[in-house]
Amino acid sequence: MTDTLLLKGAAHLWTGRRDAMRAAGGTDIRVRGGVITAIGTLAAEPGERVLDASGCVVYPGWINTHHHLFQSLLKGVPAGIDQALLPWLASVPVPYRRFFDGEEALRIAARVGLVELALSGCSTVADHQYHYYPGMPFDASAVVFEEAEKLGLRFVLCRGGQTQARAMTDMQAPPQSAPETLEAFLAGVEHDVRRFHDPGPMAMRRVVSAITTPNWSCREDELKPLAREARRLGIRLHSHLSETYDYVRWAREVHGCTPMQFVERHEWVGPDVWFAHMVHLDDDELRLCAATGTGIAHCPQSNARLGSGIARIPEALALGVPVSLAVDGAASNEAADMASEAHMAWLVHRADPRAGPRGPLPGAEPHAAQPGGGAGAMTVADVVHIGTAGGARVLGLDGVGTLAVGQAADIAVYSLDQPRHFGLHDPAIGPVAGGGRPTLRALLVQGRVVVEHDAIPGLDLAQLRADAQRLVRGMLQ
Ligand SMILES: [Zn+2]
Repeated sequence: MTDTLLLKGAAHLWTGRRDAMRAAGGTDIRVRGGVITAIGTLAAEPGERVLDASGCVVYPGWINTHHHLFQSLLKGVPAGIDQALLPWLASVPVPYRRFFDGEEALRIAARVGLVELALSGCSTVADHQYHYYPGMPFDASAVVFEEAEKLGLRFVLCRGGQTQARAMTDMQAPPQSAPETLEAFLAGVEHDVRRFHDPGPMAMRRVVSAITTPNWSCREDELKPLAREARRLGIRLHSHLSETYDYVRWAREVHGCTPMQFVERHEWVGPDVWFAHMVHLDDDELRLCAATGTGIAHCPQSNARLGSGIARIPEALALGVPVSLAVDGAASNEAADMASEAHMAWLVHRADPRAGPRGPLPGAEPHAAQPGGGAGAMTVADVVHIGTAGGARVLGLDGVGTLAVGQAADIAVYSLDQPRHFGLHDPAIGPVAGGGRPTLRALLVQGRVVVEHDAIPGLDLAQLRADAQRLVRGMLQ
């Protein structure tokens, strides 16, 4: 049989499930037709391909729930390297959009970002692609789907954009960041749904409606139509929220409420909604997320890089909020791979013993919930859970994110053959606790081998580097 594969001899297997992280019994995995059909101590069947995983550690493939792939050619731009969110937006992503006026720059940027993610064991990528503008001469949605398909990655297009310019950051914006009308935005989302969206639990392609921010990228009266149209189409909603304290200040001063109360008024809460960042949530907002099932894409590296703060993830998990892990765009996270992100997620909450509000919130009540920080605030198992099953939950991809019979064969097999991982008493924690990028024996997506022996078969990495360097040189001139 050609579509059957046996992954044999792994030392450890983590399921992604928070309640049963370590597989009971054997660690061999049989894959047929892209799906896991058996886990245990298994013997090879005649004609079955055997992938030797001796000594390896097996995780579900990582699920990255928030990215901006076009930013993969905007790493370390000097004008924004030491800036907070607003001046960074005004000096990097907004003005540099003029260089994405043809399809090549987006295509190469997407390829760089996706290759980096695949080589970190990431099998599913949700890209918040907001680079759309009136008269755009190329099909940005098709470009990112094509690049993901070439690599064999599962891909969720969060179709972003704006229907109004943001005065604070778009003062000298190029035509490539001009807003669309609401009608054009909705038509763009629906067109992408018709072309690409698969509602199935193991979909390789999904589309999400994802205006860039619910407060600054569109008018307030457009939020309900956006939410209702997404639900009519049977797709999810995604956006940025409460990344910095500016969101809190804006909601309080303009609307007399919190950011979560604001989006709730406009029907932007529920198990079909997830927001990136959510750094500055008060207790009531955390409880509102838990009560409505509204999810979080936790981006600790980007939040640290931009000085935005530390999201209250241990408390969110304690309350049952759906939490996932994400790298955010590479213009605010030069280590946009899931292994680095997981390592940061493991450490940062331990380094944050504060149980008080994040940011200068005058007169705020101290947080009531207490699992705020300190050693043990986030375990490696917590990180693996949010980075795999947690991601599948917020994306609504019920057939992925955990290793169990009947689930999609999205499997990362780490070799742990670098000195970094020698001497580990519990190798299962190595890919997260060790930091850096662990070597991949293989990455499977829907049973297909996407990475083997730490390389992507058929990919010319030297050419990709040369293409990226050439495009960056063009921006520097
Ligand atoms: Zn973002």
